[in-house]
Amino acid sequence: MTLFTKILQGQIPGNIVYQDDVCFAIRDINPQAPVHVLLIPKKEIPSMNELSAEDNALMGHLMKKVSEIAKAEGIDQNGYRLIVNNGSHAGQTVSHIHLHIIGGRALGWPPG
Ligand code: AMP
Repeated sequence: MTLFTKILQGQIPGNIVYQDDVCFAIRDINPQAPVHVLLIPKKEIPSMNELSAEDNALMGHLMKKVSEIAKAEGIDQNGYRLIVNNGSHAGQTVSHIHLHIIGGRALGWPPG
């Protein structure tokens, strides 16, 4: 079971801000901006590399939820960034796909 599933199941404390039948969102414990939410499929897919065609609807659902969460967090108008780290060069530390939704301040580009 991944860290994020343990949070979902209440085995580890976490701040769940959204949940439905296929995904959930939590506040990042180490926020990189005033708003830093992780949107996570309940299915424990390790990274984008393991996605299969059967996950198309699930990932489409997550993409639709991004703007809804951004609106709920009050960052949809000023803008926000969506990040998915994959593998060691990207700094992925939890092997369970998660979409970082980051906003609430002007963000630098290019990323580090
Ligand atoms: P990544 O580095 O892309 O794999 O992202 C993992 C994210 O999970 C990091 O931004 C961490 O700060 C965050 N994180 C780690 N442990 C927790 C936790 N217990 N609750 C919430 N977020 C966490």
